Amino acid sequence: MLVEDGVIRDVDFTGAPPPQHATVTDFGQDGWLLPGLVDAHVHLCWDAGTDAVAHVAAGDRDTVLETARASAATALRAGITTVRDLGDRDYLTLELRDLVPPTERPEIVAAGPPITTRGGHCHFLGGETEGADVVRVMASGGNLTPSSSPLQQQYGRSDLRLVVAEAHRLGLAAAAHVHAAEAIGDVIDAGFDTIEHFAFFTAEGVGLRPELLDEVVRRGIVISLTLGMVPGSPPPPAVAARIEAMQDLVGKVIASGARVVAGTDAGIEPYIKGRHPQLGELGQCIGQDVVGFGLRSATAVAAEADGRLRAPLHRAPARTCDRPERQPVSLPPRL
Ligand SMILES: [Zn+2]
Repeated sequence: MLVEDGVIRDVDFTGAPPPQHATVTDFGQDGWLLPGLVDAHVHLCWDAGTDAVAHVAAGDRDTVLETARASAATALRAGITTVRDLGDRDYLTLELRDLVPPTERPEIVAAGPPITTRGGHCHFLGGETEGADVVRVMASGGNLTPSSSPLQQQYGRSDLRLVVAEAHRLGLAAAAHVHAAEAIGDVIDAGFDTIEHFAFFTAEGVGLRPELLDEVVRRGIVISLTLGMVPGSPPPPAVAARIEAMQDLVGKVIASGARVVAGTDAGIEPYIKGRHPQLGELGQCIGQDVVGFGLRSATAVAAEADGRLRAPLHRAPARTCDRPERQPVSLPPRL
């Protein structure tokens, strides 16, 4: 493989000698090369501890920024060259991008703090979107925020349509966090580029609606299933109660031919920690081989879906703006 100025210029299969001027690195008979991996759903600022919410919401800026720096470095060492951060605090991932040279971290596609409702899922991250590459909306509640419910919508259809229209008008991709079965139809209708979790949670368990899955395939919407897990860690209660139904759902999503990218949700709790995708688990979870599914999701599928993970060729212009002073947050007790 001939690399020039950081770009692959040629791949030779004939055994021809390298060009005279080339510096040769020989990886030996057993060597192999893999494209950089893409993790389409991470949280660099979260420390993956048992109380990651308290860390990210109440920790001082420098500590949280240091967590983000360490998470980014760990991901890069694991072979992840691009991460899409779908929920930081105070735009710290944008700061990280400026502070840390590109050789010491993956490329970061940042959403900043996600858009949420008052007291809604991840309200403690607090923020409007400015300078971001992708807009993330908490379309339903989540499992980590006691004042929200993963079974309920947070927004009406007209609000969601407005968010997508504005994001696209500004050249940004739009990602929707959804657990609730009710909310999945809403985000498909609104035209989101990616759907995070896609869990079809109902009070009883998991209620896949096949007609919605068909619509996702028809529209080419990208699904990020956030299946990262650390082997041996107990799953959080909401997942444990539904684990078999979720595995069944994942199998059906894959079989449908939907475009599934590898997103791990790395950072939010010990179960999902890793800070890098557990691709082996991802493959086993759906009864497919690791190389076949995990690697394709994290390389080819993600590359092909790039225009939906972030807007094509969009780079946020350098802007100076006054960010509002951060207000101290008071967290409701954990359930
Ligand atoms: Zn997430």
